[in-house]
Amino acid sequence: MNALSRRDWVKLVGSGAVGAAAVALPAACGAQERGGAREYTLPDLPYAVDALEPHLDAGILTIHHDKHHAGYVRGLNAALNELQSARERGDFGAIQSLSRAVAFHGSGHVLHTLYFSNLHPKPARPSGALLRAIEAQFGGLEAMVGQLTAATNKVAGSGWGMLAYEPLGERLLVLQIEKHENQMLCGAVPLLVIDVWEHAYYLKYQNKRADYVKAIMNVIHWDEVARRLAQAQKL
Ligand code: MN
Repeated sequence: MNALSRRDWVKLVGSGAVGAAAVALPAACGAQERGGAREYTLPDLPYAVDALEPHLDAGILTIHHDKHHAGYVRGLNAALNELQSARERGDFGAIQSLSRAVAFHGSGHVLHTLYFSNLHPKPARPSGALLRAIEAQFGGLEAMVGQLTAATNKVAGSGWGMLAYEPLGERLLVLQIEKHENQMLCGAVPLLVIDVWEHAYYLKYQNKRADYVKAIMNVIHWDEVARRLAQAQKL
């Protein structure tokens, strides 16, 4: 696929879904026309593979992006192709497993796209409307980070920590996602996601998940989080 410019990554062109949640995604996450069929494609990393060292090293990022994220893109496309075939055959015998596959691989693709793009080698501190929203909702940045860190560290098995915006109540929430799609609050918009599947940290941090979560807080792209919040507040 073509290399993406930084501008492509930050430019909002549409929305996707995690469960029933709308998300603000980079351009490359969208489906592309290919010979009449629409397929999801793997976005490039928005920085060099060693850009986040020492917090996340090149070995982890290379495998995480090129193998794991790519696998979710393939899985999502495969499930959607199977569903098309099922419609053409009028045979929905596999509808349960296919529906599960769309939610799992689709959420995996969305979350990894958000994850890689909510990291930055030299991030700015939270400020402006984002910081004000965090202070209003959590009582301060430190309190929010404390809750997000605790929720992320304590995910049972493989999953994600998430800061999200819930449009109905117009509030920020910290969510604890299991696998890629379980415990998602319908309608909430992911603003910041932290992957705690072992593949995200084990090569460097082994079983010390909390050390990884603490380290990754040094490379959170708060300006991107702020952009996602502004977009979510328009929903
Ligand atoms: Mn992952």
